[in-house]
Amino acid sequence: MTAVIEVQELHKRYGDKVAVDDVSFRVDEGEIFGILGSNGAGKTTTVECVEGLRRADRGTIRVFGLDPVRDRAELTQRLGVQLQGAHLPEKLRVGEALDLYRSFYRRPADPADLMAALGLDGIRDTRFGKLSGGQQQRLSIALALIGNPRVAVLDELTTGLDPRARRETWRLIEDVRASGVTILLVTHFMDEAERLCDRVAVIDAGRVVAVDTPAALTKRAAADLGVERATLEDAFVALTGETTDVH
Ligand code: ATP
Repeated sequence: MTAVIEVQELHKRYGDKVAVDDVSFRVDEGEIFGILGSNGAGKTTTVECVEGLRRADRGTIRVFGLDPVRDRAELTQRLGVQLQGAHLPEKLRVGEALDLYRSFYRRPADPADLMAALGLDGIRDTRFGKLSGGQQQRLSIALALIGNPRVAVLDELTTGLDPRARRETWRLIEDVRASGVTILLVTHFMDEAERLCDRVAVIDAGRVVAVDTPAALTKRAAADLGVERATLEDAFVALTGETTDVH
């Protein structure tokens, strides 16, 4: 297995607050790797360091062997990022946003293909300010993929989507992975992680408390709880002592 992302002993604090406390994990090529944790667990800070948007206080991060801060320009060509709650200018149209982002990349994807795949072709001329939450969300996924990345970081992929749109988005992400893209998925939805992720890292208060497949985590939780079957949510609660009814 070739490692696409390697994080070793990542540490990041904001003033007195330790947000990420010696986090380590590796993501292999072609995996969908989930980062699971409750609000404030340190998920976004971790992936922002992977993306080169934040500088770690300590630790080592390599993405395709590149240092996200030092080699940011090169990494940007290979890494797609879906920013949490990203906002575009109100008057920018969907098609214009994709054309703009497309211009940043050496080998971009075809915007028409991406719009068709994400169900955006009917709203290509709609302004950002007029999009529904679900449409904004699908546009943010399209913008993460427009550069034809080899690895995509998706933060809160399906927040704000209705059940049908969530399922369509999951199918799309599986297609993206099938095309060879490695995916780092930040989520606190256990059903999403169970459906999509090959492996997950569970983060609690800035520390990794488990890295494994959802199946292994649920099997262990069932054994610990003395029940026949457990869900990933049961495993999460057992590992973190928290519930997941957040946001
Ligand atoms: P969420 O699911 O709510 O997005 P998260 O797991 O992504 O949470 P982070 O956003 O990484 O968590 O935050 C980790 C901790 O660091 C939290 O306690 C948060 O309040 C704190 N924090 C995050 N960003 C900053 C900042 N810019 N300044 C100060 N504290 C911050």
